[in-house]
Amino acid sequence: MTILEEKILKEGKVLDGGILKVDGFLNHRVDVAFSALLGKEIYNHFKDCGINKILTVEASGIGLACLTAQFFNCPVLIAKKSKSLNISSDVYSAKVYSFTHKTENTVLVSKEYLDANDKVLIVDDFLANGNACVGLVELVKQAGGEVKGVSCAIEKTHQGGHQRLVDMGIDVYSLARIKDMVDGKVYFMED
Ligand code: 5GP
Repeated sequence: MTILEEKILKEGKVLDGGILKVDGFLNHRVDVAFSALLGKEIYNHFKDCGINKILTVEASGIGLACLTAQFFNCPVLIAKKSKSLNISSDVYSAKVYSFTHKTENTVLVSKEYLDANDKVLIVDDFLANGNACVGLVELVKQAGGEVKGVSCAIEKTHQGGHQRLVDMGIDVYSLARIKDMVDGKVYFMED
């Protein structure tokens, strides 16, 4: 069992609607030292891939993305969420359906900060159906850059996002892999 899986068993709560609450250490109150350990593990997996940019989406992936980027010594690009239909020509944009909020947003990054020279690692707190990550992949493709991998702290494998990204030829590395959540209990892939 990974350190994150142990922490989920100790501190995580399963909410209705297939939501896992880990906001005491990952995405609301952030345990910086612990998240930095996760960042180091992500670095160890992708360190030979020539990554020069980490891409995440606001807001809950920002902490992990920054704590990961310090090991790569590279910037973090935070895709903004917008409900506005008037997207300017200065941005790359993609539509993303939100699993937690049940709404569609547009995610966007400035063309100034993403380009064809970029070798990008996508980092987020959760991988569920994969919509957020697929939207971020779309932004990198629009810029002509290369997605070197996707790394989310927690993957809910049963929701299919992992397989969806693997089918796109992407290296997906998650630090906790949930097989299922039943009656308030969390089961991991190796259980
Ligand atoms: P996906 O787009 O892969 O369906 O969902 C990923 C996004 O939804 C992440 O950015 C994350 O913020 C949010 N999310 C998905 N599942 C959960 C969950 O179980 N708990 C929390 N806290 N956020 C989740």
